[in-house]
Amino acid sequence: MTANKSAFDVNYDGWVEFFTGLGQPSYRAGQVCAWLWKRRVFDPESMTDFGKELRAALAASLDFSFPEITRSERAKDGTRKFLLVMRDGARVETALIKQGDRLTACLSTQSGCPIGCPFCATGASGFDRNLTAGEIASEFAVMEESAGRDIQNIVLMGMGEPFLNTEAVLDAVRTLNHPKMRGLGIRHFTISTAGIVPGIQALAASGLGVRLAVSLHAADDDLRDELVPCNTSYPVRDLVAAMKDYQEKTGDRVTVEYALFKKKNDTLEHARQLVRLLHGVHAYINLIPANGDVNGYERSTPEDILRFQSVLKSAGFEAEIRAERGADISAACGQLKGKEPPDPAKAKEKRHETRRPHKNERRPHG
Ligand code: SF4
Repeated sequence: MTANKSAFDVNYDGWVEFFTGLGQPSYRAGQVCAWLWKRRVFDPESMTDFGKELRAALAASLDFSFPEITRSERAKDGTRKFLLVMRDGARVETALIKQGDRLTACLSTQSGCPIGCPFCATGASGFDRNLTAGEIASEFAVMEESAGRDIQNIVLMGMGEPFLNTEAVLDAVRTLNHPKMRGLGIRHFTISTAGIVPGIQALAASGLGVRLAVSLHAADDDLRDELVPCNTSYPVRDLVAAMKDYQEKTGDRVTVEYALFKKKNDTLEHARQLVRLLHGVHAYINLIPANGDVNGYERSTPEDILRFQSVLKSAGFEAEIRAERGADISAACGQLKGKEPPDPAKAKEKRHETRRPHKNERRPHG
């Protein structure tokens, strides 16, 4: 290991290898993981069950710096938003959502986001870089440290698209789930994707048992190409096929996120289209009232939201209207930003780099 490698990027097997390489017993791996992930002690000097020499070897071999919380805000409903700065200066925002006694951490998987959904503040701020597995997992550790208590749930849906960084995201889940590391139960994790089909397939194949949520927002390609631009690469038919395949492999239902925008995707016909599209999918539908007016995407009226919901319910779907959390501090879905918007030309260029083939290159549907 090199002194430049982050200690948070070392998995359990890596720790075993590290200690046995020093002639130490392998149980030392469990000890260091307990300090980092359970006791939330990040300075090797404070790891008192190691002797002086071992503490010095740890400090010399790895970088124990963790994301710095440079800003923290608390909403009226108890939701907190954190601005975190990584060791190279990359910035991410995360949210800690309070529901009764339970806390849910909304973790970011990228600094910025290359997808560029037009209604989203994160998308407008452009894309910086992917986060490492250790950076994603350490967001959780510093949030627990700041909260001073355990957090019960994780949703990977902060800044960024998890399935444009799949390997790191799944490794972060493994770290936080591993019984000798944080030990959070696998059913307490949800990955929320904008619809990157290979990522859904990789999650199904991983056998991890993480819950899946898909931000659908539209049931036809023309509208979804506009609202969720990665649809040009992964159109709705392919996406729904991947959701069905995920269900077959895992036996899990899928949460479908549907943000409602006034007169854009909230009419009765849109609701009927959604019912037709999801035929045969065991879906729990989360209807999300849009957060104010971004780029002309306005919030639907309460009446239209209720009408939309009743179409879904009449068709036999479980459909709930999501209670807003943290809107007064811009910590709600699609409001995390992390930094001032960069040069728009640069942001466009970055989006272009990460985009998959154009829609004209879609595979023919059988
Ligand atoms: S809504 Fe999600 S996928 Fe779309 S730009 Fe925002 S963070 Fe990225």
